[in-house]
Amino acid sequence: MHPDFDSNSAHLFERALEVMPGGNSRETVYFPPYPIYAARGEGAKLWDADNVCRLDFVNSFSSAIHGHCHPDIVKAVQDQVAKLVCVAAPTELEVELAEIIVDRIPSIEQLRFCNSGTEAVMLCIKAARAFKGRPKIAKVEGAYHGTFDAVEVSQNATPDKWGPDNAPSPVATAEGTTKGVMDDVVVLPLNDVETSLEILNRNKEQLSCVLLDPVPARMGYLPSTSAYLLAMRKWCSENDVVLIFDEVMTVRGGYNGMQGEYGIVPDLSAVGKIVGGGLPIGVIGGKKSIMKVFDVTQPGRSRVPHGGSFNAHPVSMAAGIACMKLLDHDAFDHLARLGEKTRQGLKEAFSIAGVAGHVNGHGSMIGYLFTDTEPQSFRDIVNAKISGKGPAIFFDHFINNGILPLGRGGMLLSTVMTDADIDQMLDVALAGLRKVREKVGGMHANV
Ligand code: PMP
Repeated sequence: MHPDFDSNSAHLFERALEVMPGGNSRETVYFPPYPIYAARGEGAKLWDADNVCRLDFVNSFSSAIHGHCHPDIVKAVQDQVAKLVCVAAPTELEVELAEIIVDRIPSIEQLRFCNSGTEAVMLCIKAARAFKGRPKIAKVEGAYHGTFDAVEVSQNATPDKWGPDNAPSPVATAEGTTKGVMDDVVVLPLNDVETSLEILNRNKEQLSCVLLDPVPARMGYLPSTSAYLLAMRKWCSENDVVLIFDEVMTVRGGYNGMQGEYGIVPDLSAVGKIVGGGLPIGVIGGKKSIMKVFDVTQPGRSRVPHGGSFNAHPVSMAAGIACMKLLDHDAFDHLARLGEKTRQGLKEAFSIAGVAGHVNGHGSMIGYLFTDTEPQSFRDIVNAKISGKGPAIFFDHFINNGILPLGRGGMLLSTVMTDADIDQMLDVALAGLRKVREKVGGMHANV
């Protein structure tokens, strides 16, 4: 049972609190009163430090798309570790993984590797700024793009600070974010074409790029509308501004990423997570004309210097190649079918239990929100979310009944999951929602 202050996880957390602020190295894995420590994984299952087994519906925030310890990935890593771990030279593996990604992701004619999604987004922005020679970036309010100053702006904006609907104010996320950073970020409302175009037009002389996540995770996997993405694509083309898609998470949305699903091709893409097969990775890719800013073979020097001790790390490359080879069209069909089954099943569970809920997502990405409206933007979500104990009761019910979902309310599936796994999760979900109903009511807006 969680919480159990005699458990190994609770004791590990006590030790961790002594040596790490907040007890760990990424706040995204904390939940009160202590996070569950992982010990080992196999396929869709994850065992914790107390040997409790759960079906893993988080899959390392997306990276473990084949579940845990897939034999092909384990073998690729073991073989590589025995041959060469880390080296100050390029390897053939890097060329092979680059070829696989260039082949799949429509916008990526050329790419470079780094070590995280954060770095990938940061380097896309640096490339766009160098290419266009303009300082500002535009991003969507509430969207998460990693942990550096500019893209954190307005990630967690709150009504007291976010300004008018037709001119969202840039709001700092980390204390200490400088005015200079804030002044260079233009904030857009997701899915509001008219307002976004007005804001872009007001700033076009100074804009280098528009950064979009096609299905923003922090908004409960609320998909951007095609109309919105098309309008942004058209505006960027007409105004000579670089369109960047952050597909760090959404590259799991389809064989050709979400850009393939929408049929909309950005100029640059940031990719990560699954393409490293569970090892650290990031990818900056796009049009050759823009990617040239990184080209060190040009006379003089590269316009955007890009080094990194671990870039194109041989073990990440080997794991990534094995992972991507497994991710064929059948694998994506399987994920899409299970994803749809999960969304439908959760919708039914909310409805049968009589609890207000809204389910979103695409393919293997699923988000759910306790609300009785259909939010279309970050502000809608913040305004519509019904707070109170319901979400925590649901989450506790999951983790105490063999299921690990995303703490924020969502799920990321793996290819090794079966219909039986989804059915098992849906049974637990229905019982959990009935418990919510019993303890706090249906949580409709007036409750
Ligand atoms: N962009 C998006 C859309 C993400 O989901 C994430 C990670 N959750 C990042 C960027 C940052 O990636 P990383 O954690 O690898 O730095």
